[in-house]
Parts: sequence; structure tokens; C-alpha cells
Amino acid sequence: MYPFHWVPAAGQRHASLAEKAVGCAYPSGTELETLCQQVVSADNSELAWLWGTCVECNREARRLAGVEP
Ligand SMILES: [Zn+2]
Repeated sequence: MYPFHWVPAAGQRHASLAEKAVGCAYPSGTELETLCQQVVSADNSELAWLWGTCVECNREARRLAGVEP
């Protein structure tokens, strides 16, 4: 289990260390800080999960997961 969670917001799939209120996704409208240092509003719609991954969040997530040094 990694300390971050993926969250679609602002047109990209970001990752965040914010605690989740319920279930396995942040409810739409949840304000949270992403790994790329942006404050975004989560979009939990089905379409949002098809957005591209944020490059900076992906890099930071891989670092947190220990995949890369
Ligand atoms: Zn991001």
C-alpha cells in the first residue's frame, strides 16, 4: 500500500497524499494538494479516469513507491 492516491482533477490524473474521506476515491469537488504542488478539485466522474497521467505526479509517485531512486 502506497502513501499516495491517484485523483483525476483539472484535466489530468494526479496523485495526492491527502487522506481519503470514504471508499476508494476522492469524492468530486474534494480540494486537495497534489504531488506536483497544485491545489485541485477532484473529479470522480467516469470520464475523468481516462485522462492522461500528470508527468510530475507520476515521477514523484514512483519515487515514493521506491521504484526509482
Ligand atoms: Zn500532478
